[in-house]
Amino acid sequence: MSDPGTVVGVVNAGSSSLKFSVFEDGRSLLDGQVDGIGARPGFRAKDSSGAALTGPPLEGAGPANPADALTWILPWLRSQLGRRRLAALGHRVVHGGAAHDRPARVTLALLDELECLCPLAPLHQPFNLAPIRAALEVVPDLPQVACFDTAFHRTMPEVSQAFAIPFAYAEKGVRRYGFHGLSYEHIASVLPKVAPALADGRVVVAHLGNGASLCAMQAGRSVATTMGFSALDGLPMGTRCGELDPAVVLHFLREEGMSVEEVEALLYRRSGMLGLSGVSSDFRDLLASQEPRARFALEVFVHRVARSVGSLAAALGGLDGIVFTAGVGENAAPIRASICEACAWLGVELDPAANAARAPRITTTSSRVAAHVIPTNENLMIARHTIAALATEGALP
Ligand code: AMP
Repeated sequence: MSDPGTVVGVVNAGSSSLKFSVFEDGRSLLDGQVDGIGARPGFRAKDSSGAALTGPPLEGAGPANPADALTWILPWLRSQLGRRRLAALGHRVVHGGAAHDRPARVTLALLDELECLCPLAPLHQPFNLAPIRAALEVVPDLPQVACFDTAFHRTMPEVSQAFAIPFAYAEKGVRRYGFHGLSYEHIASVLPKVAPALADGRVVVAHLGNGASLCAMQAGRSVATTMGFSALDGLPMGTRCGELDPAVVLHFLREEGMSVEEVEALLYRRSGMLGLSGVSSDFRDLLASQEPRARFALEVFVHRVARSVGSLAAALGGLDGIVFTAGVGENAAPIRASICEACAWLGVELDPAANAARAPRITTTSSRVAAHVIPTNENLMIARHTIAALATEGALP
């Protein structure tokens, strides 16, 4: 880590929102977001005590895109720091392609290279990159670091990254990349402290939130994951379908007469828990609902997670532990219980009281496979990476 007092901003930009936080040596000073970008922009932020902060004054209709949003809040962000100095910005970037296995210092050449990956993640990558380019223009002396959701999975063996299509397409980038890497990396970084027995073992980490995926980790390194070429693959999610027979896409195009855009919208935004239940994409609503289809959606989710845990356990050649994280994994005790029960055959013996109390370990002491609940913190990971990347270059005071 760095000298005390290094302050970095963390930026997570999407198509209509820009989330930000400021860390001082691993301690969050403030966080917030601009949402409704391009429509009805709204601003909210709070300091480390949870007190609401008043944002910068709106200029005209407010920021029209995520790049405008960053240049709008940046002077305000600096003004909140008092005598502290903003040393750098760290950005979440969904795609680093096959080449980047770690964060990278932002340069114009890097941005050009990352822009070539936009066709691989058209709904995320352009919105991640635009604010970085804007900041590079407005504050060229402020160092920036790009932290990739794909980087953690570059340790996966080639067999785990390959699709069984003509290999020429792999060379053009059609392969399994995997995502949620910053979350998995955070879990790997805390395992030695919170579950030392698992740190060198075979662990399936279940990042179950609005987006959901599993990662098979061997001694803290990714060997397999459920997401693939895109963040659409793998588990069913809030509104995304997850794993799907590719012939269904062909059927939609050919027999249903749907356009590419319509299929994309259906698979990304109208499927998953929302599509299955017809009720909501939010697990809290589904757990509270009496609708049979809401129950069914949850059953499908648990079934698919449990099946995939089995698949990843096979990739690991056995299983020592399961870690639950993200919104559903950290908070939805009934979902964790059902998944653990469906994984009993692997040696998971749930401790129902510990699970209901959200204890750090939710399996019995005699359980052969230990299940833990560990909060994720992708922003902290980005802050740490940003400081480490700058320290490596001697760019810190
Ligand atoms: P994330 O994407 O990690 O922020 O997770 C968001 C999802 O977590 C929400 O859509 C909710 O479905 C779920 N979630 C959050 N809190 C709870 C809770 N107490 N019980 C069940 N689900 C929850």
